[in-house]
Amino acid sequence: LVFIGPSPEHIRMMGDKVAAKSAMLQAGMPCVPGPDSTLSNDEGELLAAAAAIGYPVIVKAAGGGGGRGMRVVHGEHDLLSAVSLTREEARNAFNNPELYLEKFLEHPRHIEIQVLCDSYGNALWLGDRDCSMQRRHQKVVEEAPAPGIPRPLVQALGAACTNACRRIGYRGAGTFEFLFEKGAFYFIEMNTRVQVEHPVTEMTTGVDIVQQQIRIARGETLALTQNDICTHGHALECRINAEDPFTFAPSPGRITHFAPPGGPGVRIDGHAVTGYTVPPYYDSLISKVIVHGATRADAILRMRAALSEMRVEGIKNNLPLHREIMVDSGFEAGGADIHYLEKWLARRASS
Ligand code: ADP
Repeated sequence: LVFIGPSPEHIRMMGDKVAAKSAMLQAGMPCVPGPDSTLSNDEGELLAAAAAIGYPVIVKAAGGGGGRGMRVVHGEHDLLSAVSLTREEARNAFNNPELYLEKFLEHPRHIEIQVLCDSYGNALWLGDRDCSMQRRHQKVVEEAPAPGIPRPLVQALGAACTNACRRIGYRGAGTFEFLFEKGAFYFIEMNTRVQVEHPVTEMTTGVDIVQQQIRIARGETLALTQNDICTHGHALECRINAEDPFTFAPSPGRITHFAPPGGPGVRIDGHAVTGYTVPPYYDSLISKVIVHGATRADAILRMRAALSEMRVEGIKNNLPLHREIMVDSGFEAGGADIHYLEKWLARRASS
């Protein structure tokens, strides 16, 4: 049996966000300000660590994932209770009570770099993605490339990622996640797997990432070099979830009618069909609508058309939310920060 994926050591290292951060600091990667060590239980030390970073800070679970196990703290008076609440949450959800502290960046964008590495020290990066449209730290809409960021900055970041991969001997597909604020990138974590948003990279580079994962696991040398990688046009992905588009309550049940959109530049990744029952036990993601266009504006037009064609009946789903986002002027302008969607939802809820 051959496992398709990175080595257990790398999965373990990156699964512990503190170990990941410290490996990346050693590789010369810029990280969010904050110590690359876990928090102690000593109240005095905690207060001193947060004061050294400067409020607001974010308390994060070392073993966290899926946007859970994080708490923003705006001042000293809230720190100790936030730490104990997050520690309990982390112990229950991730079976790991270790926490760490970071500067809470107030207006960053979430930008990430896709990499592919073989077992022989060859590493490539496949462009960038912008995943700033988030709700509760979970991605809702993703795109490639990230609009409005000077390309030389992104190229330098891509090169830093492949260098880090070579340095640690990484194998397989992976994603380096960054926050981008005031022209600077800060590493937050590395995902050692293929991610939900990988299709936008496939659409803009023409590289089948899953096929590459299998080839790497077979022991093949990467057939592509960095010079072979160029990105074309713009791609967007909307995550279609079985949930109420206003309250976000999960909505499992039987899909009585499922009609995916089609046409040039439209791709659907998913397993849902008419008659399929969405179980209540898992993530609510049922389908991904991905579009490609010559420009970002073309991709948005194509996504609007695709979403208006698509039908999912019998269960509640977030198609109406995506249709609204695609005509929102702030989204259309490009470059919204990670808090944009939450603020937009709050305005929508109060109007
Ligand atoms: P997860 O593994 O749960 O996805 P991440 O560390 O990747 O956790 O963070 C998820 C999201 O949380 C980020 O995309 C961002 O929106 C927010 N976030 C994480 N760290 C910070 C920070 N230091 N400042 C501001 N926002 C943050």
